[in-house]
Amino acid sequence: MKTIHAENHRRPRQVCLTALLCGLLCGGVFADTQTLRLQVLGSGGPELSDRRASSSYLLSLDGKASILLDTGPGSSLHFEASGANFNDIDAVLFSHFHVDHSADLPAYIKAAYFSGRNRDLPVYGPVGNALMPSTTEFVQGLFGKQGVYRYLNEYLTPTATSAYKLKPVDVKPQADHAYAIKLSPEITLRAVSVPHGPLPALAWRIESGGCSLTFSGDTNRPGPALTDLARGSDLLIAHHAVPEHAGPAALGLHMPPSLIGKLAAEAGVKRLLLSHRMQRTTGSEAETLAKIREFYAGPVEFAEDMARYRPCR
Ligand SMILES: [Zn+2]
Repeated sequence: MKTIHAENHRRPRQVCLTALLCGLLCGGVFADTQTLRLQVLGSGGPELSDRRASSSYLLSLDGKASILLDTGPGSSLHFEASGANFNDIDAVLFSHFHVDHSADLPAYIKAAYFSGRNRDLPVYGPVGNALMPSTTEFVQGLFGKQGVYRYLNEYLTPTATSAYKLKPVDVKPQADHAYAIKLSPEITLRAVSVPHGPLPALAWRIESGGCSLTFSGDTNRPGPALTDLARGSDLLIAHHAVPEHAGPAALGLHMPPSLIGKLAAEAGVKRLLLSHRMQRTTGSEAETLAKIREFYAGPVEFAEDMARYRPCR
């Protein structure tokens, strides 16, 4: 089996020690790098028993943390272990607001007080519907004057004194083309809407210097928009939460391996990383890989917490 080059695949405790040492000795997350890098902060789903943090990814550019994609439970501990500095984060992106993708956001915001963050923080995520808040509603629901953490409302109140403000943005892509954001001169973000059962959700593509990573997020029906978004990506991170023969409820929320394989093949991605692993999929990697191989012949890897990837060597 061809595999993606992962810089580190040791178990989380070992990795944490190494990452902490590197954070101290190397002065940053990827002090040896010159381009876009990915570190998996959470490779699991919502279960407490999977020994994984929930969905979260750290993107770094030129050795400096830049983007946090999803903030699932447990990810803040792994962020700390990565050696990254939250003051360096240029934006937080959300795929959607299920607990396993979003619950650690308050931990980062409170911690930023102690790290001395002093520049505004954009938070990009989907629009809402009757079941789920929009990104603006989610952030207001946490930190607004009526929010559950209203004691931190200075981060949203324009007239309040705070070292920085949260800048939530509801991302609503058009059906026929991706929503694009120029995050900095070096980084472009693109998003498309993807179905995740009845919930609004986004897939994201992050590009810098000719390097591109696409995150499917949670989706049960990859369509032309996601295929176009992922087209030619150096790395597709797909959420592998259900086995091929899952029940209708699970298949109503997530792609089985066959759909992941078809997506990777049709989009012509160079490599595939399977994340959002759950007990119903761990232990059956051989079956998953066989099903994906019916459609996609490129390198495939199964994500682990804290693993680092160089998608564009
Ligand atoms: Zn999920």
